[in-house]
Formats: sequence, C-alpha cells, structure tokens
Amino acid sequence: MLKIALRIGLLGWCCLMLSSTASLAQVESSNGIKNFTVGQLTILTDLPIDQELESWPNLVDQAVASWCQKWSIDTKSAKSWNLTIHCIGDRALFQRAGLLEGVPAFEDGFQMADRVFLVDQPSTYYRRHLLLHELTHWIMYQAFGGGGSPWFMEGMAEVEGTHQLNNGVLTLAVIPNDPKEVPHWGRFKRLSDSITKNGVPKFKHIVFYGNDRQDRMDRYCWSWAGCVFLRNHPLYFPYLEKASAKPLDYSMRLSQQLESSLLDRWEWVERDWKLFVDEFDFGFQPKLNLLSMEQATQGLPSQTRIDGTMQVDTVQSWQLAKMFFKQGQRIQIDADGTYVVKVENQDYWESSAEGITYQYHRHLPMGKLIGGFVSTDIEKPLEVIPLGKQCQFTASTDGWLLLRINEPVGQRQDNSGQLSVRIRVGD
Ligand SMILES: [Zn+2]
Repeated sequence: MLKIALRIGLLGWCCLMLSSTASLAQVESSNGIKNFTVGQLTILTDLPIDQELESWPNLVDQAVASWCQKWSIDTKSAKSWNLTIHCIGDRALFQRAGLLEGVPAFEDGFQMADRVFLVDQPSTYYRRHLLLHELTHWIMYQAFGGGGSPWFMEGMAEVEGTHQLNNGVLTLAVIPNDPKEVPHWGRFKRLSDSITKNGVPKFKHIVFYGNDRQDRMDRYCWSWAGCVFLRNHPLYFPYLEKASAKPLDYSMRLSQQLESSLLDRWEWVERDWKLFVDEFDFGFQPKLNLLSMEQATQGLPSQTRIDGTMQVDTVQSWQLAKMFFKQGQRIQIDADGTYVVKVENQDYWESSAEGITYQYHRHLPMGKLIGGFVSTDIEKPLEVIPLGKQCQFTASTDGWLLLRINEPVGQRQDNSGQLSVRIRVGD
C-alpha cells in the first residue's frame, strides 16, 4: 500500500484520485504535470501514473537500503535526504513550468544535487535502468560528496542501473543472462559494435575518459565494463577500493591515484582486460570467468618447456598453458577427448576438439578448441587461433597461450568433460 502525502497545492492545482490494485494514490496536477510525494521522494511527471510509476517509491527504498548496506551508509541519514524525480514525457511542459531552469542540456537523464531528471524511454526496463543510474549519482553525491572520476562515476551508475526485478524484489548490479531480460538496454551490442569499429580500447584510455559528449554512450558502456572488470578482479580490486575511498569529488584524482598505485603492474592489467573483454557477454560470471595473468604466470620457468600436457576444462574461461613462448617458435597442438557442450531436452550434444558444425559461434564451430595468444607487447590485440584436434602455428611475438572451448560464455555451464591437450614447441 502506498502512503502518499499531499503537497500544499499552488493556486490552480487540482487533485486527482488514482486507484490501482496496489494502492490508492492522491496526486496533484498543474499545467499537465502531476506531483506526488512519498516519504523522502517526490515525483513530478506528465506521464500517466501507472503501476510502474506507483512502484517507484518502493524501488527507491529498496535501492537506498541496498546501497546503505554495501557502502556502509548510515540508514538514518539516507532516509533524511530528499529527492525529486522529474519523469519527462514532453520536455516543453517542464520548461514552461520552469522546472528545467538552470539545468544544463541533457539527453536522457541528469542528476543535480537532490533533483533527478529522466526522459521517458522505449521500454519500462530501460527507463528504470536510467532511474537507477541517476539515483546512483544522487546517493554518491549525498554520501561521498561526489561520484569520482568520469569513468568511475558513469561506470558505477551503469553497474547499479543494470538490475533485475522479480516479483517486486529489486536486485542491483547484475549481469543479464539474456537480452530478453533487458529490453532496449543494448550494452553488449554497443560494446561489440565499438570493437568492430575501433578495436578494444586500452584500459588506461577508459580510466582517463573525460566528460565530452562525443560518443557518450560508447564511453558509458566501456566505463561499465571497466568497473565490472576491476571491481571483480582477484588481484587489483583493492587498488580500486583504495582509490575510490570517500570523500570523492568529480575530478581526475581517483584515476590518477589508481594509475600511480598500479604503475608497476599496469601491463598485467591491460593483458587481463583484453581477456576479460573477449569473454564479457550475457551470462558472464566474474568469479568464474576473470583471470589474473600476473597470478597465473607466477613461477613459470623462464626457459620454455619443450613438451607439456594440460587438461582443458570445458566450463571454464581462458586457461593458461604453463609455458612462455618466444617469437618465431613453432607450436604443435594435439588435442584428445570428447565432452558435452549442450544439454537440451535430455539430449547431450557431444563434441571433440573440432567442435560441432551444427552450431557456430563467432564463425567457428561450437565446442572447437581455440587458443588465445597474449603478447608481452600490450599494444598487440588478443590473437584468437582456431586449434581443433591438431594444429601448428608460429608465435608471432613473445607471449603466452591460453586455451578454451569456443562457446558463448553464458552457455558453458551445462558442459561436462575434459580435453587433454599436448603442446610441443620447436624452433
Ligand atoms: Zn550518468
């Protein structure tokens, strides 16, 4: 049941009564803009107040409770911070009412002190995403004094905005499993288009994004990816935690601190970033799919081994062959074993290292053994090599070889079985 407090009406305000299965809400209206207040929250909108909008006070409560818990924000203080949400269908109405005075031009959403502005979106999900994005800016402003450097501020707002709502229960900071869960959200599509157009940006490039408006959405998506990467990184997360400790501002201070604390290890950060981006897609599970090359290569003999065998787990992301390769070395791969790559209606799809040509992923048969060659030179992109049962290739630079099965990251959980891979190195 919603408890709606009436605001004192201005001259000419009229009072509407709305009823729904969930609530009886009293709403004031003037010049086509409706207005209702629940606790700390006031909503101004020219859109019909449907069940979704009526649920927002409860969603804001849930979001604030979640942030208080995970970011150690005092709940009592958070409850005392007023918030006005402007949910805009027709911008001209808000302009005429003087509600956008002093607000800089914005495309979809904007947060200014305790006011949040949202332009209506093509899907309810995406409008809620935008609401949670702007609310993240608001809570960080209230609790920490700022959002941090641009990539962190926007990346965190995107992390928290990407949500699930099941039976009224809100979960923030999810990575969706399926595009159907997130209509019009399109972040992975935008990342993939951006890679096709410009390649994978360096992580350092993202960390030093400015506030320019050009390619704004691409920068938001990469900032989101950057935050997911570093917040879940087994080795480098504490560095982010330290750099983002409160108080925050909106300057480049956070980025500079992060860069200087990771200076000696930045090349490893860039290598892990490439492997992360290669896998980052629907169903990505950070704990399962994020690798630290610095950790994995620890203790590797400086001398390259001539011959070795490794077991490749068909569920896992990139797995390191415990060898270091010199430029020009010939590498012979022989893979043996069968494994299940898909379970559907009690049918078990069995594959060998060649994969099954019934389905393709990234133009290669599903289940095929592939290699990822990571160069010591961080300027070089991740080199993906189709391997299969038998393959010979030459190391293009000094570097490391990682192996995995060719299958979308979100579809590997039902895999079972292993693959035995023999790696021989010649001159
Ligand atoms: Zn933002």
